[in-house]
Amino acid sequence: MASAAKRKKLNYVKQLQDSRESLITCGLLLIHHVMEEYKNKQNMLRRHVNEILHSIFFLGVIYTGGLTPDQFLSATLAEGLRQEFPEPFEKYRSHLPKRTPFSILLDIMVLKYDTEEKVMEELRSLLKKLKFPYPLNKPGNKHQHVYTLESTVICISSNNMCPSKKYFGASLGCKTDKAKSIMIYSSCINTWHKYVSYSVMSFTHTQESEGLQFPGSMKCQAYLRNWQDNTYKEIPPCKNCKRIFSLQGEGTEQKFYPFGNCAETECLSKLLINDNFMQENTEIKNYTRENMSDLETKTINKLREKLVSIPSLTNMLNRDCLPVFNPDSGK
Ligand SMILES: [Zn+2]
Repeated sequence: MASAAKRKKLNYVKQLQDSRESLITCGLLLIHHVMEEYKNKQNMLRRHVNEILHSIFFLGVIYTGGLTPDQFLSATLAEGLRQEFPEPFEKYRSHLPKRTPFSILLDIMVLKYDTEEKVMEELRSLLKKLKFPYPLNKPGNKHQHVYTLESTVICISSNNMCPSKKYFGASLGCKTDKAKSIMIYSSCINTWHKYVSYSVMSFTHTQESEGLQFPGSMKCQAYLRNWQDNTYKEIPPCKNCKRIFSLQGEGTEQKFYPFGNCAETECLSKLLINDNFMQENTEIKNYTRENMSDLETKTINKLREKLVSIPSLTNMLNRDCLPVFNPDSGK
């Protein structure tokens, strides 16, 4: 018995080490990639580089055991980045990110390529080049074995009346429940359109909300990347998304993930933020300023509960409100 318990513990330690190395590797791969992009289009991407560095460093802090930027970067790279982008280094322990590194990467791709087909094609080719480690210890496993920073599911939404304008979203590429919950709570308060936040929060806290009802011209399709042949395959929405966004189809089982984890959330939030017709014609039951503020308070409390277990974030928690990293304030 003793040796079985010891073996189990050793396996756990090994898995933590693998995951830690994978997080460092993937963080570095993303940083090198965005720096290459930045060299070509400096002014356009300064905000994105600031934001992606901050998001990677923050995920390092909340990762089991904690990682500092200096554990991601070589001394020379750290020095160069610190000079050019001081803000993420100063604020990664005091400010919340608005989104994951992969969502920011997706935004850079959308800025660079103009059609849905081109974005998907370039994304596949980039992922092939980056060679993130395989996240599962065997195909078909439900839980990620290592932390990779890749969102394996992406989603595209549009308004049929304006079909060329596509909105991309990524699932939360976070391995642990704690990281997922922190990113979902932060996104509800700081990032997503108020209707999306309201629905996700009411399902999270009461499981009873009516959800959103989009007009018939809303189109939304999620895709899962297949590791074997590096293609994106269409997948139906899960039960949570079906309920929250009143999507068509049966709704697949997805009991391992909390509400708001799927790629639908981000792309439908972008659709609502950018499309006036969708804003004006999407129905949401029981939405009032008072209910919203109630849910926000509950969510902030839940977020504080999660953050309090991370010792290096005490600076953030001592404030009255939880500050969010705003890359627009970069130099
Ligand atoms: Zn879903």
